Amino acid sequence: MVENQKPQIKVENLLKKFPVEKGFFKRVVGHIKAVNRLNFKIDMGEVLGLVGESGCGKTTLGQTILRAMEPDDGKIYFNFGNGELQNIMEMSKREFRSYRRYMQMIFQDPFSSLDPRKTILDIVGEPLKVNNIARGKELENRVREVVASAGLNVEHIRRFPHAFSGGQRQRIAIARALAPNPRFVVADEPVSALDVSVRAEILNLFKDLQEELELTILFIAHDLSVVRYISDRVAVMYVGKMVEIAETRELYFNPQHPYTEVLMSAIPVPDPRVDKERKILEGEVPSASNPPAGCYFHPRCEYSQDICQKQTPELEEIREDHYAACHFADKLTLRGVK
Ligand code: SF4
Repeated sequence: MVENQKPQIKVENLLKKFPVEKGFFKRVVGHIKAVNRLNFKIDMGEVLGLVGESGCGKTTLGQTILRAMEPDDGKIYFNFGNGELQNIMEMSKREFRSYRRYMQMIFQDPFSSLDPRKTILDIVGEPLKVNNIARGKELENRVREVVASAGLNVEHIRRFPHAFSGGQRQRIAIARALAPNPRFVVADEPVSALDVSVRAEILNLFKDLQEELELTILFIAHDLSVVRYISDRVAVMYVGKMVEIAETRELYFNPQHPYTEVLMSAIPVPDPRVDKERKILEGEVPSASNPPAGCYFHPRCEYSQDICQKQTPELEEIREDHYAACHFADKLTLRGVK
């Protein structure tokens, strides 16, 4: 839970685009704006959930704010602990390398994200070595410490990843991310590749470690129930843009954007009468290389009016700490979760 309202990370006008190439000579004929001029912040110790359909730019956003992919434009301010926000975009790659330890990533698939030829000691110790934090016995002690806090047996650190189950591998990935004592973690679909039976365990581990270490987390997931459980606030992305952001309960029960309303209505409810009221999203997600004019959601929106086809709505504060990008956000009465 958020106790400190100071931003850990603040993003302004962030743009990440990819060229669309055509023909033998790979002529650039356009760009896919996977992250399209986003502005948001995550406070210290806060968990921001990030949801949206596949291909909406969630993963690209997660990688771009860590500079694992270089942004094309914008500013990324980060608090390294002295209370000041530093723009990491102004740092050279070399300078940024010494700050990388404060920002870590946990990937979706614990089967492919761990090198099968390395022991757990090597894998978890790697960020300590690369960032010159510890070596030798000191490194091993730190590995034992984080492996234990991730709920694994410290006697197994000389084993290889194949000796562990999916849930245990994700615990190893969590231990690796936490080894250098980061301030901020991007967790990209960290439980979606796991069996349903172990998802709750890993989610609870996340929650416990986040509270204990006062970590700031960007939690990317498509499962809205998972996001609701873990997040303080939730942001909704659609075709590279952020269309709504609010405190979790407020967003789930009182959505202000029609796209969020559809997402909420898709959450399974154990009441067959509720199914009849479920909203179906018609049509395909538009391509980010050639999005519709005006509001990107207008071809699929049941509330669309003329203005929606001509004018792009900005993300605006509709009520305190609740932002939505819809021309009619404060006029529509939308349904949240039941
Ligand atoms: Fe729908 Fe118009 Fe709002 Fe877009 S701006 S979400 S099309 S009502």
